Amino acid sequence: MSASQAAQIISQVGSNSLGLSQAAIAQLNSDYAPLNFEERIRRLYQDFAPEKVLVTSSFAATSAYFLHIISQIRPEQVIHFINTGFHFTETLDYRDYLIRRFNLTVEDICPDKHHHAYSISEQLWDKDPDLCCSANKVQPLEEVKDRYHVWVSSLMGWQTEHRAGLPIFEERRGIIKFNPMVDVSKADRDEYIATHDLPFHPLVAEGYSSIGCTHCTVKGEGRAGRWQGKEKTECGLHL
Ligand code: SF4
Repeated sequence: MSASQAAQIISQVGSNSLGLSQAAIAQLNSDYAPLNFEERIRRLYQDFAPEKVLVTSSFAATSAYFLHIISQIRPEQVIHFINTGFHFTETLDYRDYLIRRFNLTVEDICPDKHHHAYSISEQLWDKDPDLCCSANKVQPLEEVKDRYHVWVSSLMGWQTEHRAGLPIFEERRGIIKFNPMVDVSKADRDEYIATHDLPFHPLVAEGYSSIGCTHCTVKGEGRAGRWQGKEKTECGLHL
């Protein structure tokens, strides 16, 4: 698709902040399908205004791979970190290490202090984890999302059933979601990390495969260690 065709498509009206129609999103999916993860990121910055691209990272198991590619293609890209206040010390150390190593600019997104205090006093992660995630993750990001047109995720299809069904581009709650890693396999990820001598999150070596808040993360394969004993499998950010 040429730049003028892209501009024409982008001018069609949809219910996301950019006004992209479903046909335009389908066209983007078709255009980006043959590309690999890195090529998709490069193409994104050509097709969308770079300053309107939102990148978030949880600085979890796989983040070094995702952030290494982003930082090489657009070094000035701001990375938003949803700091729930419930992270492992190792996660904060890993974030700071990757900031230094990749020269990242990271901005923390923090919850409303009253909502956060209520989460603690009620131990919401036990009583109502959906409300806890809403107060400490989803709502704080909603306010930031309004400033952007497209949100880049690092979701991979092999991680959960829900993620396996995601397209590369989708419209979700008023923003275009971009899932450039959705067809990256675990083996691809591990090979890239080994080739570039990138560090995993330090807790991976201790048996954690997926790492979120301390209250809702235990050791385990895949995402089995998240919200153990509960039906919940996603924090709600990507639903
Ligand atoms: S992952 Fe757990 S502690 Fe973190 S916001 Fe969600 S419910 Fe709360």
